Amino acid sequence: MPLLELRNLYKAFGGLQAISNVSLTVNEGEIVSIIGPNGAGKSTLFNLITGVYKPDRGDIIFEGERINGLTPDKVTRKGIARTFQNLRLFTHLTVLENVLIPQHHRLKSGWLAAVLRTPAYLKEEEEMRKTALEKLSFFGPRLMSFRLHQPVYVLSYANRRRTEMARAMATGAKLLLLDEPSAGMNPKETKEITQIIRRFRDEGGYTIVLVEHKMNLVGEISDRVVVLDYGEKIAEGDYKDVVNDPKVIEAYLGR
Ligand code: ADP
Ligand code: MG
Repeated sequence: MPLLELRNLYKAFGGLQAISNVSLTVNEGEIVSIIGPNGAGKSTLFNLITGVYKPDRGDIIFEGERINGLTPDKVTRKGIARTFQNLRLFTHLTVLENVLIPQHHRLKSGWLAAVLRTPAYLKEEEEMRKTALEKLSFFGPRLMSFRLHQPVYVLSYANRRRTEMARAMATGAKLLLLDEPSAGMNPKETKEITQIIRRFRDEGGYTIVLVEHKMNLVGEISDRVVVLDYGEKIAEGDYKDVVNDPKVIEAYLGR
């Protein structure tokens, strides 16, 4: 059984067909990249999977269960987390606090226990902190340093991206959807994040779908590449085959 299956998805905005008959399966432990020119529908596809938009037609199946129509919050609870092309962090909270927040929805103790700081709550809080630090440690000293306690607004753009990735992991997700994880990163940082994403899979046990423009990153880590153009899937397969596909070359040159 695939971890995620998209079956003949459609989504229009007014007269614009943003996603058209897209089917895709993602198996557990895979790293799948979605590429395509600007406006191809990549972010829309993530928004459909995560419940931000409802598909006009088609189904989204996660671990054998149909999830279309669920709210984003419920989709996260099912085990799908994402990062955004435009980051969505609480900029006045610290790095560590940002990574702690998404775990609160899994607390067993109620709000009263939290206010009273009961032993059961304190134990859960300690567990949450451990989880947060474990996820942040993927990024090494870039985040595991004095920066843990800095508000996000003082961080570099690259460190904000890293914090957002750690936050997505801390939700308890199995599947991570990363929207342009290397955006705003220089070549050295991009190389580093490429290795780290691979470690998310190899050491963290995550399955990963990413949208990315930097082809060296895509070529290096993808088990499979899917190409969208004008909302349609125009190619899928091995990185080398896909980038040499005349349809794909035309899609990029045609814009
Ligand atoms: P990509 O991420 O591949 O660059 P998007 O998925 O963001 O592309 O957008 C696909 C198309 O859908 C674009 O033409 C975009 O303008 C349009 N679109 C995306 N979201 C909306 C929306 N909420 N309302 C109207 N049009 C949208
Ligand atoms: Mg996009």
